[in-house]
Amino acid sequence: MIRAEIIAIGSELLTPFRTDTNSLYLTRSLEENGIKVVAKTVIGDEIDHLVAAFANAFERADVIICSGGLGPTIDDLTRDALCEFLNIPMHLDPEILHQIEERFKFFGRKMPETNRKQAMVPEGATSLPNHHGSAPGIYLEARGKQIFLLPGPPNELDPMWQQYALPLLRKERPYQRKIFRIAMLPESQVDEMLKPVTDSLREVQYTILAAPTEIEVHLLAPESSADELISACAEVRSILGNWIYAEDLESLEAAVGKLLKQLRRKVAIAESCTGGLLAERITNVSGSSNYFEYGLVPYANEAKIKLLNVPAELMDAHGAVSEPVARAMAEGIRKIANADYGLSITGIAGPDGGSAEKPVGTVFIGLADAEQTVVKEYHFLGTRQRIRFSSTQAALNLLRMKLLA
Ligand code: ATP
Ligand code: MG
Repeated sequence: MIRAEIIAIGSELLTPFRTDTNSLYLTRSLEENGIKVVAKTVIGDEIDHLVAAFANAFERADVIICSGGLGPTIDDLTRDALCEFLNIPMHLDPEILHQIEERFKFFGRKMPETNRKQAMVPEGATSLPNHHGSAPGIYLEARGKQIFLLPGPPNELDPMWQQYALPLLRKERPYQRKIFRIAMLPESQVDEMLKPVTDSLREVQYTILAAPTEIEVHLLAPESSADELISACAEVRSILGNWIYAEDLESLEAAVGKLLKQLRRKVAIAESCTGGLLAERITNVSGSSNYFEYGLVPYANEAKIKLLNVPAELMDAHGAVSEPVARAMAEGIRKIANADYGLSITGIAGPDGGSAEKPVGTVFIGLADAEQTVVKEYHFLGTRQRIRFSSTQAALNLLRMKLLA
């Protein structure tokens, strides 16, 4: 097994303002090439820390990929740290210096002296051209390891990785990853249901990733265990059945959209506490005009009465967040839009507005078609944002289950 470590370099990555996305990009590509990422380090621009990071990486990885710190400024120390760690000198490469000067000339500017630093190449290293910025990358083999130093900006790193670094990488046969996405089941329940499969896995690796109202099951296998992967997938399918809404990274709204399109059905929605989030998600999918009629946000009680013909007495008797009102909203929007399905959401997203009888997180979701209307009551936990998102998950999944029935 070839092991890789990614070192994301830059003090800004240790603040709340910048996220290390390069390592996610690189991890995916490494995985596709059969290389296992065993560690990721995010580290600030301090030479001693960088040297120590190289020491750790050389202990545990065969491939070391750094991003950032190749620029001309005083805090760009990646080259220096690597040379210090390996105890090797650097030299100025006149050809690279010329290219950097030409790049500045092209933009009508004179190259600042500080940029000379970017033409410094560690002894024995190859430079990787950068067509999208001034800092070339660096490739070096030392102590049996492959080391790649790549620029920080993703628009420079990605093409350099693809075009110049990947061809140099020692690869293994790729791992295969199968993903199952499941909505509205708790993590512990999915885990429990899958126990008969997961207990008997040998070479296939099982991971369960949970977010509120959203679970991903990943099965990862080396190519030599392709048969085991196929049979494990078949078992997962037979256990989870319709709970699986996608077998890749497709979103729930896209999965619902696909079904509506296939069945040539249309939906209209009336959503209160989600304030348009459901419509936003549905219409985020390209081609949604084929099946999405329209959405209303009747937030005030008056609006529910005026726009959806929800009887005022119903509201007085049960409150806006109630089974009968969700029912009337679903039936109302279906009728007004002349759609196959009317979907409604009414609930208390919090943090204020809850009561003992209807605590924050109480949500009613209605789904009306020509034959009947079903209403489900949910109790979600968490922040306002999370309750709103969970409500849209529940609504989408309710519709999906109906379409599959
Ligand atoms: P430059 O010549 O632009 O200075 P550099 O190789 O020195 O290139 P950095 O200075 O470390 O790169 O980073 C430049 C910018 O690239 C950062 O401000 C940040 O926006 C982005 N960046 C750096 N590292 C990452 C990372 N790991 N993930 C995503 N973006 C990053
Ligand atoms: Mg920089």
